[in-house]
Amino acid sequence: MTKFRSLDSADFSNKRVLLRVDLNAPMENGKLSDGTRIERIAPTITEIADKGGKVILLSHFGRPKGGRDEENSLVVLVDILKQYIGRPIAFANDCIGPDAEAAIAAMKPGDILLLENTRFHAGEEKNDPAFAAELAKLGDLYVNDGFSVAHRAHASTAGVARLLPAYAGRTMQAELEALEKALGNPARPVAAIVGGAKVSTKLDLLGNLARKVDFLIIGGGMANTFLAALGHDVGKSLCEKSLVDVARTMIAQAKATKCQIVLPVDVVLAKEFKAHAPARVANVDAVAADEMILDMGPCSVVEVERILGMCKTLVWNGPFGAFELQPFDAGTNAVAKLAGALTDAGKLVTVAGGGDTVSALNQAGVGDNFTYISTAGGAFLEWMEGKSLPGVEALGA
Ligand code: AMP
Repeated sequence: MTKFRSLDSADFSNKRVLLRVDLNAPMENGKLSDGTRIERIAPTITEIADKGGKVILLSHFGRPKGGRDEENSLVVLVDILKQYIGRPIAFANDCIGPDAEAAIAAMKPGDILLLENTRFHAGEEKNDPAFAAELAKLGDLYVNDGFSVAHRAHASTAGVARLLPAYAGRTMQAELEALEKALGNPARPVAAIVGGAKVSTKLDLLGNLARKVDFLIIGGGMANTFLAALGHDVGKSLCEKSLVDVARTMIAQAKATKCQIVLPVDVVLAKEFKAHAPARVANVDAVAADEMILDMGPCSVVEVERILGMCKTLVWNGPFGAFELQPFDAGTNAVAKLAGALTDAGKLVTVAGGGDTVSALNQAGVGDNFTYISTAGGAFLEWMEGKSLPGVEALGA
């Protein structure tokens, strides 16, 4: 893992601290619909402020096309941040130049200032050195607490970090430590659950995990392609026929590296993709031509539970079935509950994240039981794919 400096090693007193956060939170009609991201950055903001730093928040918001675009102004976050942090938040109309400089010059130790959307400048996404230098001029120190944007080599995540003494914020630190525990230097045996809709979106993920874990448990729609590769008829299930050969090669490669691929042995079948569609359980070799696989069956759940009982570490991305539709959430819920209980008992380290996984685990009621649940979609997946993350690399001590 990249070695990084934490907040413990910085002297923030009277320093201008550029703090990169991810305020790109989901909004509906100007209201925040999920405050998790803001909750998670609050401790870093207050810690730096309490240590006498002048906290200067940098973030992108939405997808402006490299110019001012009032619809994507961060000004709507000012009141929301006030609510979550419980302190005054000032705002500057630009993230570089005279407006930003004047607002920063007026700051006292402990003050918090939000700068306007970094993506209002084309140099942000291009990681333009001149734009990064303009940002760096505004601060004495740089802290990144936005793991969810660490897979982007942008000026505010990577460029500026190389121009100032750089530190990981508390949430970034927790995320990196959890990831290290899960795949960097894990207690073995390690299991990975990879579920979700399609193999095509997770080829790199499966390839990397097959080299690192002892058990690769494949579920969801993507398991169907693997079942087809083993010669099973999957009826009208979601199945990527063009990837059947790739799946076959993966099974052979995993065997060579002593990674055991675990597939469903029984499945829940329905003729329609809808909640409460009439369903039946059958072995994987008994799927009729007009049926589709929408979840794994009870024998498969028992097998996955047996494997988790032997493991010390679990990484999880993707549901076992069409979890949004009852009763096809049963497999995901059962395994999630067991993994949560094993975590509570101190027997299993559980790290999960990416896309629908967070909502699937919350729906199963285990959101608080796992060792760590990452809300960083793309960055979490790229890390699971074994890629290096520019925003983390740039914090290298
Ligand atoms: P992903 O974003 O790749 O993690 O995929 C999550 C989606 O996969 C969810 O919307 C699930 O409904 C869907 N999914 C899981 N299992 C199946 C299945 N057997 N058939 C169709 N869709 C599935």
